Amino acid sequence: MNIAFLGLGHMGLPMARNLAAAGHVVLGFDVAAPAREAARAAGLDVVDDAAGAVADADVVLTMFATGGQVIDAYRGSGVGPGLLEAAPTGILFVDCSTIAVDEARTAHALAKAAGHRSVDAPVSGGVVGAENASLAFMVGGAAADVEAARPLLETMGARVVHCGGPGLGQAAKVCNNMILAASQIVVAEAFVLAERLGLSHQALFDVASHASGQCWALTTNCPVPGPVPTSPANRDFAPGFAGALMDKDLGLAEKAVELTGVDARMGMLARAVYREFVDGGGGTRDFSGIIDSVRAQSDDVRSRPA
Ligand code: NAD
Repeated sequence: MNIAFLGLGHMGLPMARNLAAAGHVVLGFDVAAPAREAARAAGLDVVDDAAGAVADADVVLTMFATGGQVIDAYRGSGVGPGLLEAAPTGILFVDCSTIAVDEARTAHALAKAAGHRSVDAPVSGGVVGAENASLAFMVGGAAADVEAARPLLETMGARVVHCGGPGLGQAAKVCNNMILAASQIVVAEAFVLAERLGLSHQALFDVASHASGQCWALTTNCPVPGPVPTSPANRDFAPGFAGALMDKDLGLAEKAVELTGVDARMGMLARAVYREFVDGGGGTRDFSGIIDSVRAQSDDVRSRPA
């Protein structure tokens, strides 16, 4: 299959390499010259213009940072034709960027109006998942289009879930990450509370990891060193999943909450907590580093007047 892969950043480059390694003809493009150079150095065929990348494509994959970039690239933003116009008629567009649900629906509508098929297919699993082809894809779009995309997604990942119609892959991503943010904060709070009560980290872990407090934020991303040796807490919170990315995803959750009017006060509190974390310099740390903020902001009861 001829695949155009646009957006060769942290995620896109290893994903594109996995497609090429599986025998597809992959032509890459990135607006940033250093990203194009890095991709060439990594052995990928890369061209210097977007239209050239998509001219003979059967499938166009995009992995950009924002929804604005996806919509601008699809539509064209003044300099040259957009991807939808430059591509052969009736091909499949697969957008793997994490963007807002309404932006994803706009991208689908633009693709449809131009006579193409499209799916939104955001991922979880991070750079390591992209490198190891173990990503999880959450996919939105018509069933036939999702099935057409599935073999490629399975080449880049370990799990592909069809979540429903256009935009619902992004909806699943936003809902999942809102759960994750809130649970990571409360797990951190529980460990700090345990410290103050004289309960050891290991004892809390041994109980909660086999009780109703069990969750990923505890058993995989445990925010204290020791109980889970692979968690970022054991390496001074080197990501993992950076606070800045969690903050971005919670911004998308906030947009979705505003759009739907849902009373998501826990999720929106988590949004505010991570905003503060990033403003305080946590953007490049793993988001489980929130435990340091919990400690820093907890009262020192010893200094309270009797
Ligand atoms: P990145 O910033 O490293 O890469 C994005 C690339 O897209 C950049 O190189 C940029 O120059 C390029 N780009 C932007 N507009 C373009 C255009 N019109 N044409 C061609 N290239 C263009 O970002 P990333 O870390 O690779 O993340 C990509 C997406 O995946 C984001 O939406 C992010 O939220 C999501 N995501 C990232 C991770 C992670 O751990 N990095 C995990 C899950 C999901």
